[in-house]
Amino acid sequence: MKKPIVILGPMESESAILIKRLENRREHPIGVYTFYEGEIDGYPVVVCRTYIGVVNSATVTALAIQKFSPLCVIIQGTSGAHDPTLHQGDIVLGEKMVNIGRFFTPHREKGEGTDTFAWEPHGSEIVSLQADEVLYLHSDRRILEIAETVPYTDGRVLRGVIGAADIWNKELDMLMHLHRTLGTACEEMEGYGVAQVCAQLSTPCADIRVISNSEWHKEEEFNEKYGEQCQMFVLEVVRRLIAEEALM
Ligand code: SAH
Repeated sequence: MKKPIVILGPMESESAILIKRLENRREHPIGVYTFYEGEIDGYPVVVCRTYIGVVNSATVTALAIQKFSPLCVIIQGTSGAHDPTLHQGDIVLGEKMVNIGRFFTPHREKGEGTDTFAWEPHGSEIVSLQADEVLYLHSDRRILEIAETVPYTDGRVLRGVIGAADIWNKELDMLMHLHRTLGTACEEMEGYGVAQVCAQLSTPCADIRVISNSEWHKEEEFNEKYGEQCQMFVLEVVRRLIAEEALM
């Protein structure tokens, strides 16, 4: 039995194309989540819409690993730029993923208010790596190498740090703060959850994101069409992984 490749996308506009591309498609519902099992180029692939947020993405990842024992899990979709030089359509390959919702705050007295820039980022307890302070998790090296071979004309393709948490940051000073302190290229709401579950369950993963919005450029507001663009890019990554038997 070949181990399938799992591809995840949070919203309908980030998963429908991939679901439609599956040959011999079968459905496996678990609660509100539906896992679509089928083939791409004759190789087993499972696609699931995670819905928005870190808890949803972590849940789906754990269920997918338990049910399908996949070769790898690829989370993909839209993201907002932290790096001001990035533009809509650019693709960020998640060299590293970081939790941008995990901070310890210094003590402040009643009435002293809040100073988010003083919050200290903290790593996660990754038991599988025997560490309790892991700040960055990594995408699988081979998947990123293959992704770099995919021709793409709608923007740049670059490696970067992808931040995730259940927050949509639109404050320019905060975007720059995260970019400077954690090195983030962009933010979204699922990637780190997928990466953490994959690390704990010893499964290779990758986070591949398109920039769909940038607060740095007024006209670059969120647009669903970029979710479709990212799926087409990831489809080609997966076809190449299969053709080159890169992970098998
Ligand atoms: N419903 C909203 C957009 C979706 S909410 C709208 O129509 O405007 C957030 C989803 O988009 C998440 O799945 C997240 O991963 C992604 N996303 C895209 N840009 C983001 C950003 N700047 N910050 C956080 N999440 C972002």
